[in-house]
Amino acid sequence: MSIRVTIWNEYRHERSSAAVAAIYPQGIHETLAQALRAQPDFVVRTATLDEPEHGLSAEVLQDTDVLIWWGHKAHDEVQDDVVERVVQRVWAGMGFIALHSAHFSKPFKRLMGTDCALRWREASDKERFWVVNPAHPIAQGLPDFFELEREEMYGEFFGVPQPDALVFISWFSGGEVFRSGCCWYRGMGKVFYFRPGHETYPTYHHPLVQQVIANAVRWAAPTPVANFTRDVRRPSAPLEPLPQH
Ligand code: ZN
Repeated sequence: MSIRVTIWNEYRHERSSAAVAAIYPQGIHETLAQALRAQPDFVVRTATLDEPEHGLSAEVLQDTDVLIWWGHKAHDEVQDDVVERVVQRVWAGMGFIALHSAHFSKPFKRLMGTDCALRWREASDKERFWVVNPAHPIAQGLPDFFELEREEMYGEFFGVPQPDALVFISWFSGGEVFRSGCCWYRGMGKVFYFRPGHETYPTYHHPLVQQVIANAVRWAAPTPVANFTRDVRRPSAPLEPLPQH
């Protein structure tokens, strides 16, 4: 069965900066879409901020198994009703993958319930990703570690709840470390945060970064729960006779 993936991108830097456009001429979302379309079991669409309803109508979200999110400078422009729709879908089982500066996106912050703050430095550090959970599905096929020659640095403390699973820890050439691949369960949905992807570096062209994102899509895809009662917001009949008072 195929996995329906929607890649959402703010798509502003690519249209306002020649340097970013040179790396992502069709936008970060199209680079990611091209990579994920190579997976035979993925059906991939894209959506961007400036489309009506940000490209995330109720129909689109209903038709989405995993939503990938990249945003940076226009988090505040994302309408709250669309954020609410995304969060409700995650609680009902949709996977959500937040990339890089999406740590400050409205849906990610809603799903975490914390400030999601971190320290950062834009100075072309080297980033080394260590796999700290080799048995996790998101680490499948990866070496013990891999490196990006140039990236923005994100450092601890990362203000998120303790992850339900930690897959990567990054080391940066300036000396900081960061929990760069984190998993959480939220309702019936799964959330993955993956750190790299500053817009001025070619990070999303890197084959191992693409592999992590593809692995994460498979992990975050809804688990079949056809026989499970999703909506428990009603009075519950007892399964056993109760004592009479
Ligand atoms: Zn950045």
